[in-house]
Amino acid sequence: MASPEHRIFRENFAELKPPLRPEEAVVEANRCLYCYDAPCVRACPTHIDVPRFIKQIASENLIGSAKTILEANALGHSCARACPVEVLCEGACVYHEWQEKPIEIARLQRRATDFLQKEGKQPFKPGPDNGKRAAIIGAGPAGLACAAYLRRLGCRVTIFERRKVPGGLNTYGIAEYKMSRRVSLDEIERIFALGCEIKLDMEVGRDIAPQALVKNYDAVFIGIGLGGTYRLGIPGENLKGVWDALSFIRWIKDRRLKPLGKSSVTVVIGAGNTAIDAATQSRRTKTPKVVMAYRRGEAEMSAYGFEYELAKSDGAEFLWNVQPVRILGKGRVRGVEFQKTRGVGGKLRAVPGSNFTVECDRVIKAIGQAKLIDLARALGIRLTADGRIGVQPGTLRTSNPRIFAGGDAINGGKEVVNAAADGKRAAWGIYRALRPKSPPPPGNDYWISTIGVRQVAPPASRASGRREHGAPAGPTAREENREALRA
Ligand SMILES: Cc1cc2nc3c(=O)[nH]c(=O)nc-3n(C[C@H](O)[C@H](O)[C@H](O)COP(=O)(O)OP(=O)(O)OC[C@H]3O[C@@H](n4cnc5c(N)ncnc54)[C@H](O)[C@@H]3O)c2cc1C
Ligand code: SF4
Repeated sequence: MASPEHRIFRENFAELKPPLRPEEAVVEANRCLYCYDAPCVRACPTHIDVPRFIKQIASENLIGSAKTILEANALGHSCARACPVEVLCEGACVYHEWQEKPIEIARLQRRATDFLQKEGKQPFKPGPDNGKRAAIIGAGPAGLACAAYLRRLGCRVTIFERRKVPGGLNTYGIAEYKMSRRVSLDEIERIFALGCEIKLDMEVGRDIAPQALVKNYDAVFIGIGLGGTYRLGIPGENLKGVWDALSFIRWIKDRRLKPLGKSSVTVVIGAGNTAIDAATQSRRTKTPKVVMAYRRGEAEMSAYGFEYELAKSDGAEFLWNVQPVRILGKGRVRGVEFQKTRGVGGKLRAVPGSNFTVECDRVIKAIGQAKLIDLARALGIRLTADGRIGVQPGTLRTSNPRIFAGGDAINGGKEVVNAAADGKRAAWGIYRALRPKSPPPPGNDYWISTIGVRQVAPPASRASGRREHGAPAGPTAREENREALRA
């Protein structure tokens, strides 16, 4: 008989976007208009040639299609599930012009890469050894992508990862109803098969000195992501029942619900995508009441519109313009005292005498992740004013010419696809720095050509009228196309 935990996962964590059946995929692929200078391609940070891979699906060349995807995005198998396509490729699809359903790019992408994984095919091979060695700090999406492309260029790579399981947040952060851990690990296996050396459970700065990497390797790539959730800095934060969102989500990813304990009322503090993930997953683990509390108004929440809709349809409740002043309880949480807020001249002010209490037995903090600045400081590289690692945009080179960086550590927290795009860009930057006079070995021109395309965001209206975080500013591809036609 299935355990209660097993039943919860089967009933409440089913995939939001299940796979297309083979015949459905062919029909959907044949709807694509194979646009010239396709806006979907430009909206993707890795610039996958969407019309090309879709055409390959239409002609039932699934391995060729998967190869097209993975050329541009080494994490294309994960991104088919994890990507917020509503604000990227699918948000830019021309079908929106006629108020019709956009092409289901993500599910088609999944059709191709699932097939490749099932067949156990390795579409790429490492380049001939060029004698150069790179150290990669962090086996998250940025580090993995960098490793994959460096291997194809013929560089040797050693990845240092502080956890026992690789993949970073792609393995232990993505909501379970979007992507299971297995998908991330399958992708990693395919990348490691290119011949990467991996040192797990080895933290740079604790188990090995950062300077030793700079000394012993020709180049270093930093893909360490971000740190733990910020503290609230209010009394009661250490009470039992107070969780940081990342640990809470991690237990769910581990499919171990017992350590989380049962909750009748959970309060989630914050209103970004991570807060939404924590709230929906709480509801799906059968918490009867989940209340999200945000210090600003609904219009200012940073979560994607479609994520907000998901939380609402899962029954989460919302408190706007409130800030927590203390967490109440003796030993265990029994409530949160809030104070109302209002905006005055662009600044947030507490409303005196407006305090009230929400009784609850669990609090999840989701107010953003801290920056990991110690490593950069130890290496003496430049940080931006807000604590990100500073890089040159074209090459992702830091202030030390032998050190490169990418992913959340440089962008402050975006998506898996942004980290994958950075890893690709940095691999090419490293190769050019190490072998300035040598062209890349055969078999590398295609992915290198995908680096230079300028990314253009779909309009905010595609995402329920909200300007999303993570989405780059600027005109849409179609607006640009129109401009070009006028000219
Ligand atoms: C809760 C949550 C849900 C998310 N959901 C989505 C989603 O649905 N879709 C999406 O596209 N994106 C999502 N994201 C964002 C996405 O996961 C990140 O943007 C992406 O993983 C960043 O990749 P990265 O390689 O830069 O960092 P990470 O994924 O954080 O990887 C960094 C790696 O470096 C390791 N490391 C750190 N310091 C050291 C050190 N000193 N030595 C050795 N190793 C070290 C870490 O252990 C980790 O494995 C989510 C993020 C969170 C927090
Ligand atoms: S914009 Fe839509 S129709 Fe055009 S190529 Fe991309 S997916 Fe196909």
